[in-house]
Amino acid sequence: MDMQVSLLDRLFDSGLLIETGVDGLYGRSGQFEDVIAAFERMIDRFGGADGAEAIRFPPGMAMSYFEKSGYMKSFPQLAGTVHSFCGNDHDHMGLLSCMEEGKDWTKEQKATNIALTPAACYPLYPTVAKRGPIAMTGGLYDLQSYCFRHEPSREPTRQQMFRMREYVCMGTEHHVTEFRQKWMDRGVQMMEELGLKVEIDIANDPFFGRAGRLLANNQRDQNLKFELLIPVNSNANPTACMSFNYHQDAFGTKWGLNLEDGSVAHTACVGFGLERIALALFAHHGLDVKVWPDAVRTALWG
Ligand code: 5GP
Ligand code: ZN
Repeated sequence: MDMQVSLLDRLFDSGLLIETGVDGLYGRSGQFEDVIAAFERMIDRFGGADGAEAIRFPPGMAMSYFEKSGYMKSFPQLAGTVHSFCGNDHDHMGLLSCMEEGKDWTKEQKATNIALTPAACYPLYPTVAKRGPIAMTGGLYDLQSYCFRHEPSREPTRQQMFRMREYVCMGTEHHVTEFRQKWMDRGVQMMEELGLKVEIDIANDPFFGRAGRLLANNQRDQNLKFELLIPVNSNANPTACMSFNYHQDAFGTKWGLNLEDGSVAHTACVGFGLERIALALFAHHGLDVKVWPDAVRTALWG
């Protein structure tokens, strides 16, 4: 724990991360952003030739899609929704006096039809479904979004608002599982170029509650989720910096994603945790990028 606090403190002291008064919600310096930008170019170098369709969604998604995704069933503890003041003049007076008296003014805030995006790929499935059948050669998408997860922490690698770059593949089972394997191999190769020690391990999502334990066990038993782990806060508990997820036909069925032959599409996504990868680089090679090993600097900046 001390080690974790000290990495966060060192990041604050160096100005790479900037305190906002909330654990897990940080500003980033130009230098921090430059590392992320360079790493994203590296992702393009490895994946660009695949010809994925690039789409950028904002960090909020339609509440109707969020509801249908089932996120509240599986991860209610992590979800964030946008609420706003929707009253009249009279309500406004009430709001101001409530704030003045230091009372809880947020109770009167009403839900808007926007939820905070929990993973970059969530808005994609309904978007692609609306377009009609997917070609038999499959669909490949390149996404990046800020994501929100309500899990305040002093561990710098656990942030409440962070960026996820994702590739999502839709097609036959064979097609999407090959895609996932290809990115597991590429992920290891990329981190090797960056001088980072990695291991890939089976994983599960943090499903909520007692019923969630069954879902998590099922996910593990079926090898549906793998993570690429890099020691950042500690060697004993390395941090998931990438995840490789096979959804079988679950999202295809939920969203009505069909291939041209009428079969339900299988889907898989691979996600890069951009802040976590930047933090892994700073933790391993030091807070001053000028003294990072030449090979690492070349991999990032050419
Ligand atoms: P997943 O959807 O597998 O939970 O997350 C995909 C990737 O996003 C993870 O492998 C990780 O790199 C990143 N990620 C997940 N949670 C957090 C978090 O709390 N903070 C940060 N900075 N990155 C996260
Ligand atoms: Zn995803």
